Amino acid sequence: MSPNDKIMKKLLDSEKTDRFRKLIEQSENIVLTCHVRPDGDAIGSTLGMMHLLHSLGKRAIVVVPDQPPRVLNFLPGIKSISVFTRHEEYCRRLLDEADLLICCDFNKLSRQDAMGEVTGAVKCKKVLIDHHQYPDDFCDLTFSFPDMSSTCELVFRIIAAMGYYTEMDLRSATCICTGMVTDTRNFSVNCKNPDIYEVLMKLLEKGVDKTKIVKEALLTQSLTSLKLQSYAISEKMEIFEQYHGAVITLDLKELERFKYEKGDTEGLVNTPLNVKGIVFSFFLREDEDCIKVSARSIDDFPVSQMCEDLYGGGGHRMAAGAEFHGTLEECRRILIEAMPRYKGLLPQKLSKIE
Ligand code: MN
Repeated sequence: MSPNDKIMKKLLDSEKTDRFRKLIEQSENIVLTCHVRPDGDAIGSTLGMMHLLHSLGKRAIVVVPDQPPRVLNFLPGIKSISVFTRHEEYCRRLLDEADLLICCDFNKLSRQDAMGEVTGAVKCKKVLIDHHQYPDDFCDLTFSFPDMSSTCELVFRIIAAMGYYTEMDLRSATCICTGMVTDTRNFSVNCKNPDIYEVLMKLLEKGVDKTKIVKEALLTQSLTSLKLQSYAISEKMEIFEQYHGAVITLDLKELERFKYEKGDTEGLVNTPLNVKGIVFSFFLREDEDCIKVSARSIDDFPVSQMCEDLYGGGGHRMAAGAEFHGTLEECRRILIEAMPRYKGLLPQKLSKIE
């Protein structure tokens, strides 16, 4: 049975999905891409769409700006991905030869680092599928839904609206479900909309093993990561009771001491929010060339605004980030000094931190 048309199509403009379908029909050589430091949603949406395109008899390949995290190695098709930082010439050629480019899960070319320039210069038609706020106008066709739980959910809806639900195989469904699971932290955030469960049901009907996805993509952690995160929480977390905020900082020396590998601090920024009374959490990590800022909040507190005002970053209202050029200490100071200015935006009812 195909998904309930009314539910699947209610947000999507059929003129747009028809145009996308025509673009796919006319193309033989399709490239899919996503943002730098790709997560479950970025990889899930591109691979999910790739498998669908294969079912339709198209040549399709995923090209990503840099290496996907190891926790996603279980995803069908992950080995076929081409990584720009590793094989730049080859990736440039793939993009050059493409007759359709599908951009997933990013709203501006700068979110692709060095690869963004290449994506921007590609001659073929481009389609954007994304759920970040205020997308730039760099594609011929843009599907932008900031209220959507994940780009993967949007990909599913677009596939269903184009009439390709039947062609979606288990591999495609598994990739799409992964992005929904990671972006909603297994349906605990961004999942108010009842329609999400309709999409989930349709994915489960395809045979998706959600238990495995949750275990692999969300719950698996390396021993070094567990130790580093435990240290960060017990030694490097500062609580600002008056402002209901938490700040964690890690410098290069500490990262080295714990043999930090990419992805090891994944999810760390969320941990302080487990404590009752903490409304927002910042994690500042020293990198080779900048300070990586990530921020999360609850109860609609706009950390995206803080990231934008303080560091020129952005993101979602309750999940945002930035890059700061300066020292870790400066970055921390700016944040702490700004806290009083955002006090008025805290929720009316606040619990004591305990
Ligand atoms: Mn996403």
